[in-house]
Amino acid sequence: MKEGIHPDYKECKVTCACGNSFVTKSTKEEMRVDICSECHPFFTGQQKFINRGGRVDKFKNKYNID
Ligand SMILES: [Zn+2]
Repeated sequence: MKEGIHPDYKECKVTCACGNSFVTKSTKEEMRVDICSECHPFFTGQQKFINRGGRVDKFKNKYNID
């Protein structure tokens, strides 16, 4: 069977911007993420990035921040 035709899920080492890393299944061998279960406010309870009532989105749209 040729490689590259079907997604080949393998162990993927994910490295987060916070320094945490973990292994998941992906078609890639390595991935970098900005947020993970260790630093995401939903999991940590911290409200660093909490989007309250869409205010953040409105802010982003206003200043055209992606
Ligand atoms: Zn993280």
